[in-house]
Amino acid sequence: MKISVAIDGPAGAGKSTIAKLVGKEYNLMYINTGAMYRAVALKAAENNLSPEQINEICSIVNDMEMHFENDDLILNGENVQDQITTPEISNIVSNYASIPEVRTMLVKLQRDMSYKFNVIMDGRDIGTVVLEDANFKFFLTASPEERANRRFKELNNRNIECSYDQILQDIIERDYKDTHRATDPLRKADDAIEIDTTSLDINGVVRTISEYIKKGK
Ligand code: C5P
Repeated sequence: MKISVAIDGPAGAGKSTIAKLVGKEYNLMYINTGAMYRAVALKAAENNLSPEQINEICSIVNDMEMHFENDDLILNGENVQDQITTPEISNIVSNYASIPEVRTMLVKLQRDMSYKFNVIMDGRDIGTVVLEDANFKFFLTASPEERANRRFKELNNRNIECSYDQILQDIIERDYKDTHRATDPLRKADDAIEIDTTSLDINGVVRTISEYIKKGK
């Protein structure tokens, strides 16, 4: 029987860090769906395509082969993990992720992965759309200030210049776009377990999720 774990939540709630660790513990393949939308934004930007150029964007997505190796996204044979996690891509990704045609194509790819492997998948619409029948669904939240703080530290560690205030503003804008778009907006699935990570450390969240999985619910 295939096992699937869905983790949704806003930017910076700790989804990917937590999903990687839980994935290792239970031998699940980690699928970072945000990375896939970021790769679309990267390719669209490289080709100077605005979000209105839907046909051209779809044709680019058609030619994109994406898979994960050691949790990094490999796009057409190239590891693009660093390129897709810059503040520039963070600022434009929601505009491309709101295109319904793009979502249809990526949701299909994501579901195909879940048919082949036991997966832990993080994103915005995993529990509500992509893996509606997931065995376990979690919704991670944290205050915008705490999420901005985490992003700021992460970018600083990678020597990427940034300001905390700018990151906080970007996060608030991205939250708004992701929760208000017409197609598959970010929302908690009715049957998802919500975990506020504001004052929890990473191990605390992993332990909480792991206990639910061990119990089988
Ligand atoms: O998870 P991450 O912050 O990397 O996601 C980047 C962006 O991709 C989100 O802000 C959202 O616009 C989009 N996204 C999405 N649906 C998903 C995953 C990400 O719309 N399942």
